[in-house]
Parts: sequence; C-alpha cells; structure tokens
Amino acid sequence: MTPGGDAGGAGAVVDVAIVGAGAAGLAAAKTARAKGLSCVLLEASHRIGGRAYTEELALGVPFDLGCHWMHSASLNPFTKTADELGFPYETNTTWARELFLGQRWSKAEEDAARMAFIEASFGAAHDAGAAGRDVAVADVTDRDSPWTAYFDYVTTLYSSVDSDQQSVFDGADYRDTDENWPVKHGYGALVARWGADVPVALNTGVARIDWGGREVVLDTPKGSIRARTAIVTVSTGILAADRIRFDPPLPERKRAAIDSLVVGNHNRIGLLFDKDVFGPDVTRGLLVAGSGDDPPMGFQIRPFGFPFVVGVTGGRFATWLERAGVAASVDHALERLKSAFGTAIGRHVGRTIVTAWGSDPWTLGAYSALRPGQGRQRAVLAESLEDRLYFAGEATSTDFFSTCHGARITGETVAAAIADALNRVRA
Ligand SMILES: Cc1cc2nc3c(=O)[nH]c(=O)nc-3n(C[C@H](O)[C@H](O)[C@H](O)COP(=O)(O)OP(=O)(O)OC[C@H]3O[C@@H](n4cnc5c(N)ncnc54)[C@H](O)[C@@H]3O)c2cc1C
Repeated sequence: MTPGGDAGGAGAVVDVAIVGAGAAGLAAAKTARAKGLSCVLLEASHRIGGRAYTEELALGVPFDLGCHWMHSASLNPFTKTADELGFPYETNTTWARELFLGQRWSKAEEDAARMAFIEASFGAAHDAGAAGRDVAVADVTDRDSPWTAYFDYVTTLYSSVDSDQQSVFDGADYRDTDENWPVKHGYGALVARWGADVPVALNTGVARIDWGGREVVLDTPKGSIRARTAIVTVSTGILAADRIRFDPPLPERKRAAIDSLVVGNHNRIGLLFDKDVFGPDVTRGLLVAGSGDDPPMGFQIRPFGFPFVVGVTGGRFATWLERAGVAASVDHALERLKSAFGTAIGRHVGRTIVTAWGSDPWTLGAYSALRPGQGRQRAVLAESLEDRLYFAGEATSTDFFSTCHGARITGETVAAAIADALNRVRA
C-alpha cells in the first residue's frame, strides 16, 4: 500500500515516509517533494495541522485551539507565508494586562512591580542556564515575592510545565525576539491552508516502525509502507507512551532524551458573549488573581474585536481543570470574570469551547519542556539513527522548541538533509 503520497504503486519503496502531518510533517513533505524525493505522509487523525488547529466559535469567529501567536515573528517563516496567503496578523502586541486582585483593580505601581519581578525572574533563569547550571527555574527565582505566583503562571504558558519542572536551559536556549504576532483568522487556519497542497493519508496511524533492515517498514491499519528513510514527527508525549513500537527498540540514549522532554499542559477556554460586557477600560489583556491554591488566570479580551474572551491555563493547574471537565472549566473561567465584572455577565455567554490537550490521543499534552538535571537533550532527540530513522517536530528544535515555526523548521531541515544524502548516493 502507498497511501498519501507519490510512490510508484503497490510494493514500491518510497524515499521517505513521514509520520505525523503537523507543522513539522507538512514541512518535511513539502521539502522532500520539492527536492524530487518520493514521499508518503501518514497521519493518525482525521485532519492535518496537529497542534495547529482553528475552529469557528461562531460563524466567521475563528478560535485557535492550539498555537495562536507567531513567536519571534521576524525570524518566523510563517510570517512570510501569512503575507503570501493573505492572512492578516497583528504586530502591536505590547499592550498592558489589567490585573484584578480579587476585590479591586491593581494600582499602576503594583503593575510596575509585577512586571519588574517577572522580568528579573526570567533574567535570573536565563543567566543560570547560560552559565551552565542545570537546575529548575524555581531554584533560581524568588519564591517569597507577592508576585511569584504571577511569574509562575506565565512560565506555565511558556513551557507548559510548572517552574519546578522546567530546566533553565530552555530559557537560555530559546531565541526570543519579543515579537509575538497573532493571526486574525487563526494560526491553525494558516497552517491548514499552507499544508493543503500536500498529499496526506489521513486516519492512518503508524503502530510499528521496523528500522532494523536496509529499508524501514511502517505498519498502519491500512497496510505496511516500505521506505528508504522515515521521519518521526509525533510529540514526545506519544513517544514516551510507546504509542509507536520501534523494532529494534530505540537506543537508551534516545529513550533518555524522550523521557527528559516532557509534554506538559496548556488549555484555552473560549467564551462567546452576545454583547460587550467589559466596557472600554479593559481593552485586550486581563489577569485575575488566584485564590487559595488556584493560580492567577489570564484572558485575552475580544481578540481582533471578535466578541469572545479566551482564558488560558498551563501546567498542573491546566491538567487538574481538564480532568474536572468541560463544564467545570467554563464555570471556573466565568467565575473569575464575574469576580471582576459582576455576576450579570453570565447571562450573556453564548457558545463555549474548551481544549483538552492533556488527553488528546494524538499528542498527549501541549508541548515539550526540558526537565531539570538532564543536560541539553533536544539535540539528542534530533539525532538520526543509522541514516534511516530521523526525528523532527517541535521538541527537536534547539532554538525555537515548543513552537509551530520551530516544528516547521525542523521538518524542512531534516527533509533537506535526507535529500542531500539520498541524492549523493544516487549521483
Ligand atoms: C494550547 C496550545 C497553545 C500553543 N500556542 C502556541 C503559540 O501561540 N505559538 C506557537 O508557535 N506554538 C504554540 N503551541 C505549540 C505548537 O502548536 C506546537 O509546538 C506545534 O504545532 C507542534 O508541531 P509538530 O509538527 O511538532 O507536532 P504536531 O502538531 O503534534 O504533529 C504531529 C502529528 O502526528 C500525528 N500523530 C500522532 N501519533 C501518530 C501516529 N502513531 N501515526 C501517525 N500520526 C500520528 C498527530 O495527530 C499530529 O497531527 C501551542 C500548543 C498548544 C497545545
């Protein structure tokens, strides 16, 4: 069987079989095809895009379930793609986040103190990583400040894990230009449009990869594929859970890399309102203080003027709320908003949407974070085995990990390397 690609009929051996049609897999397939390789792209779910996915919250109201911001935008290839495909995006995102402290709005000096604390904490984590100290972010940041909970909340959104679970190496290694540009009609919609010209075998999960012989054989419910090389782009959550059986098993060094790049959690809770209940003062960003053990919660208010808000959760709290269920997640976000804007706003909530990335069967989490004390493992995950089995995807990026464009760049890089190697042999 040769689904989803350009192989030459039953039993033929393709140059490259790609596992997973997220940003990395789509990019790998585009690059491989452009370089003249025969290729099949195998996707377990019913759609392309993976963790880049936009749905409509209402007619004409786009909602990103996964990635939303084009990070490091001037270095991000999707910025150019958005221009080419006519997807508008916003470049002025240096707006303030209003903070509601439970009983009252924060004062300007409190906002300044919070921002200064967060900046200093990121600086401390970055410096520790740059100095080669392989410790957790929590180990090098002040745990007793009134603003610690706010810093910890922000780090869960950056890394999808809590500050005690994240190595400072990630903070030091990530190439941040401080340009985080949202796409009006959805980052997921942009990725889907960009990937629409790639032949893909959907509903074709790879259950086993035999890479012990001269060819790689990939078993799917629709039959087996024979390939000269394979690129695995699935999340480290899927790899750690052994959802794909490797035969022979992956070497210990690779297993250690997978286990050290944990996939944490990050969820988005969208509430559509039938009128503007927030008034002119709260313009775009909002933070509501936590209470008890609950961390603060951030909201994006009326993105691009669309009549909805997005509450975002990360790390352990995201997992706890996800397990509590969809209704509990909506209630939780709404109660936070009611505390700031009054209970009457509840009457104006229409459709809601809640993600559950922690239990998504095709990712088993949001994006990768390097555990402390493991060394720099992203480059190890990216290493190929026997020039046959290759790895791509966000977790393999050494500078733009945990992002959509990072995933894309790894797919392009690996496919180009395979093309060079195969074309050298053929020359
Ligand atoms: C809530 C959330 C918010 C985010 N926000 C941002 C953001 O604002 N900006 C940003 O840049 N990034 C963001 N990210 C991260 C970004 O979405 C991901 O890093 C990126 O999309 C990952 O792409 P990938 O190709 O590496 O993996 P994936 O998108 O996971 O692609 C892997 C594919 O493999 C498939 N698959 C799994 N198992 C199998 C199998 N056995 N056989 C075949 N196929 C299989 C999956 O279905 C999936 O389609 C966010 C992610 C989440 C979850």
